[in-house]
Amino acid sequence: MSSTHDRTAWLEGGNACCTTPPHQTNRPYRLLLLGAPGVGKGTQAELLCERLGTCHLSTGDVFRVAKCDASGELSPAMQEALTYMKRGDLVPDRTVLEMIRERARCLRCTGGFLLDGFPRTLTQAEALTTILDAENIRLDNVLNYELPIEKIVERLSGRRTCTGCKAVFHITARPPKVENKCDHCGHALYRRDDDRPEAILVRMKVYQESTKPLLDYYAQRGLLLTIMAEGTPEETCERTMERLNVIGI
Ligand code: AMP
Repeated sequence: MSSTHDRTAWLEGGNACCTTPPHQTNRPYRLLLLGAPGVGKGTQAELLCERLGTCHLSTGDVFRVAKCDASGELSPAMQEALTYMKRGDLVPDRTVLEMIRERARCLRCTGGFLLDGFPRTLTQAEALTTILDAENIRLDNVLNYELPIEKIVERLSGRRTCTGCKAVFHITARPPKVENKCDHCGHALYRRDDDRPEAILVRMKVYQESTKPLLDYYAQRGLLLTIMAEGTPEETCERTMERLNVIGI
C-alpha cells in the first residue's frame, strides 16, 4: 500500500474512482516488480511509490480486499479466485486478466504505476504487453528482487499485514510503532493465510515453475534490472533508485 495514494479505482474496480488526483510529476514511472514471495516486493513498492510518486497496483491486494467484502456480492469468478489464493496457488489467468482489463485506466494514470504481483505467468506477461502496446504505454523497467531462500522463509513467517490499508510490517525487521497496530491507519495487523508454512511451500514452487520464465521474457526486451534485496528495506530502495538512475528524490 502507498500511504500517499488513494487506490480506490484499483482496489474496487468497476466505476469506482480515486478521490485524490494522481501525484503531479514530470516523470511518471511505469515499473513492474518481480521476485519470489518474501523478497520484500510489497515493502519496496511502498517505499518506491513514496519516492517516485507512482501508484502501487498490487493484484494480491485486490483479492484481499475482495476477501474482506461483507456485501456478499462477489462474482463466482472472484469466489473461485479466493479459493486458489487461500491455498497459495495462482488464480487462473482468465480471471486475473479480466480483473486487469477492468482496471486498465489505472495503467493510463498520469502519475504512473508500479505493478506488483502481476504478471505472474508468460500468458499474463504477453497479455500485458498487448494491453500496453494498444494504449501506447511504455514500461520503464522490470525490477527483479533476489534473496537467499533462508532469508525468504524468515521474512515471510514474520510478516504482518494491515487489515485496513494492507500496509506490510515485519515483527522484527519493520515492527509497527504500537504492537499489532498499523502505523498508517490504526487497524489491526494479521498474518496472511498464504504466509502460513504449508502455503509458503506451494507459493515457492509456483514461483519457480510459473513466474521465473518471466525473467527471460523481460531480459530479452532489455527491461530487466536485478537487485539484491539484502539489508534493510531502505538500503534496498536506495540500491533500486541508483539502478533507475534517480538522483536527489
Ligand atoms: P501476492 O500478494 O502478490 O503475493 O498475491 C497473493 C495471492 O493472490 C497469490 O498467492 C495468488 O493466489 C493471487 N494472485 C495475485 N496476483 C496474481 C496473479 N497475477 N496471477 C495469479 N494469481 C495471483
